[in-house]
Amino acid sequence: MELPFAESYKIKMVETIKKSTREEREQWIKEAKYNLFNLKSEQVFIDLLTDSGTGAMSDKQWSAMMLGDESYAGASSYYKLKDKIKELLGFEYFLPTHQGRAAENVLFSALIKEGDIVPGNSHFDTTKGHIEFRKAKAIDCTIDEAFDTEIDHPFKGNVDLQKLEKTIQKYTPERIPLIVLTVTCNSSGGQPVSIENMKAIRKVADKYNIPVYYDSARFAENAYFIKIREKGYENKTIKEIVKEMFSYADGMTMSSKKDAIVNMGGFIGLKSQDVFKKATVFNIIFEGYITYGGMSGRDMNALAQGLDEGTEFDYLETRINQVAYLGQRLTGFGVPVQKPYGGHAIFVDAKKFLPNLPKEEFLAQTLAVELYLEAGIRGVEIGALLADRDPETRENRYPALELLRLAIPRRVYTNNHMDVIAVALKNVFDRRDQIKKGLKIIDEAPIMRHFTVELDRV
Ligand SMILES: *Cc1c(COP(=O)(O)O)cnc(C)c1O
Repeated sequence: MELPFAESYKIKMVETIKKSTREEREQWIKEAKYNLFNLKSEQVFIDLLTDSGTGAMSDKQWSAMMLGDESYAGASSYYKLKDKIKELLGFEYFLPTHQGRAAENVLFSALIKEGDIVPGNSHFDTTKGHIEFRKAKAIDCTIDEAFDTEIDHPFKGNVDLQKLEKTIQKYTPERIPLIVLTVTCNSSGGQPVSIENMKAIRKVADKYNIPVYYDSARFAENAYFIKIREKGYENKTIKEIVKEMFSYADGMTMSSKKDAIVNMGGFIGLKSQDVFKKATVFNIIFEGYITYGGMSGRDMNALAQGLDEGTEFDYLETRINQVAYLGQRLTGFGVPVQKPYGGHAIFVDAKKFLPNLPKEEFLAQTLAVELYLEAGIRGVEIGALLADRDPETRENRYPALELLRLAIPRRVYTNNHMDVIAVALKNVFDRRDQIKKGLKIIDEAPIMRHFTVELDRV
């Protein structure tokens, strides 16, 4: 008999989580203005809000923290991280930042100006925010297959090369300071980009002399998918694939809170000394001195170790199998979820789940609230709330997909938790016809409103 699959780690420390009653949750979600970001963590039983900074560090990471060097300048922790980034990712230059959006802020301050155009594959919300904040524009060139949750395409994060070239020709290369490639593509469902596509993007970029930067939060999960799905890569190690991926990039921004399995941190990796010098000025203003940026020495140590662990096949297999396990259970119950299953999360198709709710009533958010009420599970809306208003017309933007994202923290929950999530969502699915009304906005911020928006039942 073939041995069943088991996690590639064992548990050394545990954290208690609390169940609650439906009555309590009714009260709490009302007080939270139907915004799950406003809930206290103890009001949540299983927290799938994000996989960002919520992972469990290893014994080796915790012990690396004790060796942190907190010197203001020239700390050994800085050099340890610098060497690890060079070794694993191939970037000569790097700047530590406090998280991914800080890396974007620093890099974009050096590269983007008003009126610029930044093409890419479904830019992440903070990336888009930092582009639009500079009065530049993000243009989504993702392949069409990404917007149909049922098409089983192995690399739904891929850029449509024709869309990319048309965008470059339409706006002229002079207005395009960079192309941003997000690996894996968070906004289109944690979907990977193939090496073939990366190579082709490099070619187009070279033709027009435009640099390519990877938004790299989940680069290791992307590499895992390349290994299992792309021809010619099945016998390569994750570390070899990662090296090749970044060989086609001029630089990267990183939220270390994802695939580097730390609770806080980020960085910029660069090949160009010139860009490094420009970005350094902004890093010193916004983040901190060159050799610590936004991070303490101990955190840089844990990050260097996390980069190593996060690019090991056994760990990635455990992680991605767990996400797929949840996907399979939901599919078994007939719940409409995006396929193929993403690397870090399962995305429930809220339009298919609640076909009778109008888009103006924020159906993915409505579903998120229902799942919370059912079992104290906190997911997050990836839909019209997140898509925000058009910066020029101020009209609501309604994206092609309304998704409820169930992001799975790394090395945190067991498959028993996955079973609870699946059954809870099945129960909501079984009573979906009784969900007749959605939500309306009471108050919202001018940019990135989803974090603080206040809602009420229609
Ligand atoms: C999380 C994330 C960011 C932003 O990083 P933070 O660490 O949350 O600031 C940027 N891009 C992608 C693709 C991400 O997933």
